Amino acid sequence: MLNIQSKLPGVSTTIFSVMSKLAAEHNAINLSQGFPDYACDPKLVQLVNKAMQDGFNQYAPMPGSTFLKETIAEKVEKLYNIKYNPETEITVTAGGTQAIFTALAAIINAGDEVIIFEPAYDSYAPTIKLLGGLVKTYELAPPTYAIDWDMVKKLFTVKTRMIILNTPQNPTGSILSSDDMKSLIKLVAGTDILILSDEVYEHLIYDEQKHQSVMLYPELKQRSFIVASFGKLLHATGWKLGYCLAPEKLTKEFRKVHQFNVFSVNSPMQQAIADYIKEPKNYTEIGRFFQQKRDYFRSLLADSRFKLLPCNGSYFQCVSYSGISDEKDTDFSMRLIKEFGVASIPVSAFYQKATDHKIIRFCFAKENATLALAAEKLKNV
Ligand code: PMP
Ligand code: GLN
Repeated sequence: MLNIQSKLPGVSTTIFSVMSKLAAEHNAINLSQGFPDYACDPKLVQLVNKAMQDGFNQYAPMPGSTFLKETIAEKVEKLYNIKYNPETEITVTAGGTQAIFTALAAIINAGDEVIIFEPAYDSYAPTIKLLGGLVKTYELAPPTYAIDWDMVKKLFTVKTRMIILNTPQNPTGSILSSDDMKSLIKLVAGTDILILSDEVYEHLIYDEQKHQSVMLYPELKQRSFIVASFGKLLHATGWKLGYCLAPEKLTKEFRKVHQFNVFSVNSPMQQAIADYIKEPKNYTEIGRFFQQKRDYFRSLLADSRFKLLPCNGSYFQCVSYSGISDEKDTDFSMRLIKEFGVASIPVSAFYQKATDHKIIRFCFAKENATLALAAEKLKNV
């Protein structure tokens, strides 16, 4: 028998795969994994087709197509009035997850500590551990999931190498404010601590609030990898394309790893995406679109027994079921699938210690008809 020492003991298949599979098996409405159930713009599909016919079928340049990187730079400048150099500061990746992995792999050595805020996107902690790093966790509490920066400071040691931010946040839908950013600046000024800022939901921010990208703060920008994903922006999560913005010094290290874990990413799609996002209305309308979905879903659930938590951004609405049951959230969400026909994600899955606040997450990036049908079922709970 082969003796294999798992590098990730205790890690099993991700909750997203598990819940989507269960939803299919039980014919339940799938509000678990975050992806739209409607088609992306047919124009985008035509552009991919055209790019293939035009011959964009061989390797793209290692850091990404020049056309796409230049278009990303234009988009970033238009939105935030900040310049990133497409040649030296922008790298196209196979989605946000690869960008996160690559940034961590480029920086984290055995024994380095990385601070994360939980509930957290599920790839952060296993990636850090895979690299021999140590995860320092700050557990946020419902309903606001606000960060007390004095508590963050207490997690600092001489080994602190990086802090991972995520705004708007998955799964809570909370966002960081400019005051958060100012507190963070005070904490990191004068240190070598780097920041990995997961901004894949940058466009999904509601009620006229302004996305607080770390790039808006020079003290943070100079030490940050910013991760973005076209999956959310284009309603095409299956395309797995994104990018990383970082100052030249950091991008250099990022690309050293990127060239060996993917080399380069899907060429015709890079061409098509660049053509598509040349048109600003293809990214400026998306916040309003999802705000309507959020408002619609919240209004549908208003007279259910679930208690709605705040949602300022992202694809996700968290709800408390503590007034309905004191089951564990994993058990409750299983029962929701089997007895009521709706799939959700138990928020304990986003805490390494499986902290259970009796909260589940629904994805509202769905057709209104899907949301209405799900709400009908949820009102029976
Ligand atoms: N970060 C967060 C917070 C996410 O929710 C996701 C998944 N949607 C990702 C990163 C990964 O994005 P991608 O699908 O582009 O890999
Ligand atoms: N980000 C998506 C979510 O939170 C899922 C990504 C994945 O399945 N890995 O639901």
